Amino acid sequence: MANKSGKIRTIIIIYWVLLLYIIAALVWWYVALSRQNEQMTAYKIQELQTTDIRYREQYKKIMNENKRKSAQYFGEGAIFFLLISAGAIFLFRAVKNQLKITTQQQNFMMAITHELKTPIAVTKLNLETLQKRKLETSQQEKLINNTLQEANRMNALCNNLLLSSQMESAAYQKVSEQIYINKLLGDCIRDFSVRYPSRNIVFTPNDDITITGDVFLLQMAFNNLIENALKYSPKDSAIKVVLANKENHCQIGITDEGNGIPDEDKLKIFEKFYRIGSDATQKSKGTGLGLFLVKRIVDAHKGVVYVKDNQPKGSMFTIQLPLMS
Ligand code: ADP
Repeated sequence: MANKSGKIRTIIIIYWVLLLYIIAALVWWYVALSRQNEQMTAYKIQELQTTDIRYREQYKKIMNENKRKSAQYFGEGAIFFLLISAGAIFLFRAVKNQLKITTQQQNFMMAITHELKTPIAVTKLNLETLQKRKLETSQQEKLINNTLQEANRMNALCNNLLLSSQMESAAYQKVSEQIYINKLLGDCIRDFSVRYPSRNIVFTPNDDITITGDVFLLQMAFNNLIENALKYSPKDSAIKVVLANKENHCQIGITDEGNGIPDEDKLKIFEKFYRIGSDATQKSKGTGLGLFLVKRIVDAHKGVVYVKDNQPKGSMFTIQLPLMS
């Protein structure tokens, strides 16, 4: 890490030294040419014969040429300066963007490694315990449930990874079928209630809402939002999922009572790999892929997704999807 930031510092120093050198050379070039112009004008005026009847006319001509040359050097210098500045800004932004992406990818790789290693380690330990010890049925059940939960986590992570790379390369072919959104949401919530029996997930259903879409994709989007609501809120707080039928669209609201999302991050969280705060300050691990996928999926269904503050605390994610016509 230290080596990398050292390299970046060297690159930034070289960049600024080169840029300053180019600008200094440009200024020097302008001053030298202007001086030469003045010298040439003075020389030409010296050569003029004051007694010559065309003296005034020639003097004027020399001065006009002097002005024209000054304007030409200034114009050329200004255009050159503008081009260099535009190029430098473009380059700086491109490099900064690239560095940001590289850092995000590194964080992502670290998060992935952690997210994969933990469930594997827990699963291995649980299975070894089950194999080596004669446990009571209740203890066995606890271990099996715990192992299943870890397998589910890994499954969700792999689905997110696979789907995001498939959607990036346009390899995923979206299916269009009739979906009973009430049933789909109900199924998702039932799965979460089994996986997190101690959490309170309140569902307000709404019958008869059908939309056209891809069940697998929408299930992934809902799962990601519910998973986040559970992950980023206290264990004893409730999660609310409300399905509403609006005039020409259906609305799914997922509300939690966590710490909420600062205004400046409300749009950024939908970017690929974006996670709020630095990795060191983040308590819960993740990959920054979940909401990126949610946005992609909702876009693919011609819908919208956004987040607002929940009152008195927490966040409310809303998905709006067009109804089946
Ligand atoms: P991940 O959860 O894997 O980090 P996501 O793309 O799902 O990635 O979320 C991006 C970021 O948005 C998270 O890192 C988290 O900081 C923030 N976030 C998402 N959902 C919530 C929520 N319900 N409450 C607070 N913060 C959230």
